[in-house]
Amino acid sequence: SELDPADGARAYELDRQYVFHSWSAQATLDPFVIAGGSGSEVWGYDGVRYLDISSQLVNTNIGHSHPKVVAAIQKQAAELATVAPAHANLARGEAAKRIVEKAGPGFAKVFFTNGGADAIENAIRMARLTTRKHKVISTFRSYHGNTGASIAATGDWRRMPNEYAWGHLRVFGPFLYRSEFHSTTEAEECERALQHLERTIQAEGPDTIAALVLESVPGTAGIFAPPAGYLAGVRAIADKYNIVWIADEVMAGFGRTGEWFAWQGQGVNPEGVVPDLIAFAKGVNSGYVPVGGVVISPKIAAAFDERVFPGGLTYSGHPLAMASIVASIDAMEDEGIVANAKMIGEQHLGPGLRALAEKHAMIGDVRGLGVFWALDLVTDRATREPVAASVIGALKKELMARHVLPFAAENRIHVVPPCVVTPAEVERALVALDEAFTAVTQG
Ligand code: PLP
Repeated sequence: SELDPADGARAYELDRQYVFHSWSAQATLDPFVIAGGSGSEVWGYDGVRYLDISSQLVNTNIGHSHPKVVAAIQKQAAELATVAPAHANLARGEAAKRIVEKAGPGFAKVFFTNGGADAIENAIRMARLTTRKHKVISTFRSYHGNTGASIAATGDWRRMPNEYAWGHLRVFGPFLYRSEFHSTTEAEECERALQHLERTIQAEGPDTIAALVLESVPGTAGIFAPPAGYLAGVRAIADKYNIVWIADEVMAGFGRTGEWFAWQGQGVNPEGVVPDLIAFAKGVNSGYVPVGGVVISPKIAAAFDERVFPGGLTYSGHPLAMASIVASIDAMEDEGIVANAKMIGEQHLGPGLRALAEKHAMIGDVRGLGVFWALDLVTDRATREPVAASVIGALKKELMARHVLPFAAENRIHVVPPCVVTPAEVERALVALDEAFTAVTQG
């Protein structure tokens, strides 16, 4: 459709006047207006195309405006745009079947939510109700979503089986580049992180701990795959103490690491151990319609065969979301999109980013896999002192000036393009990054 720069100005004005933004001091904002997108690119009302290496919030795994997903949403909207969760709907069944099949034989059913945070909420709910324990262990370096008070504020009966918004504790997970355990090798880091986890469980009381919530590859916290042996150690500890292992695959799942689920990757989980619950969202349908969910093991699913599951959402299994999941998974399968993400990581992004680090001393560490990479930026490679926020701000500006839309977190630039990104687009991103680092270093 025709782009009119006046619409861009109006979008900006309306946003600044009426829209209240996430995670921000409202007066400081200067949002980038996006009018459209296709594949790995987005554009404003001036028609200028930007390479989106952020995948928005690391969710447009299939790229922007994939025609098959758009068509499936349109078709479903014309047939049935909404349906109560209690009724059965073909799109929902087809979506759940595909997700269970991708998760593999350790899984039986799917509970659909509106996004990632409530997927985590419901996974924790299932763990607490089935173990009849309450504490939840996660790691300090993690992000699992932004809800938690809503059910505690609820007044009707649904609150009562859920009155447990307490008992969260955190451990340090393995992360060699910024090790909390003074480790010098991945094997050491793995062993010490597992020892710390098990000692924490013992000291807290194993009879009080329901769940262990772990991002299979921590995302916003800095993209660091666990060392070989860590997930196998987690599985063994969870079994030993009757704790439910919840794999948070909200960001890492559905192609991001070059696998359907990050925990299935040989590099992430060489022993092939299987979690009890998987929380997903984002890449399952690339966020075309908000959705998330929990993939449930046969044992935990069966625990609610005779007993009521005290959880639900008006839009659980919303047909537009379900149709978009079916189309998205089918297109990712048919078009080899997950395999593309893997190939891009191994042959283009990984080598390209490592070559950048050879050139720019500011890049202290390059980590990642698939289309899931972080550049950990430092003032000094020996001390690994993180760069100041102003450096990240300057880099973002230089990248935007080169028509590359970046993702920044703390002292890092995350290079997280859609799974459909091409080698030529990766090259474009690498050139822009190279120039931006040069400009910021010289400036
Ligand atoms: N878990 C992880 C690993 C995430 O990265 C996110 C969002 O970034 C969430 C959970 C929360 O998902 P949502 O924002 O859809 O609620």
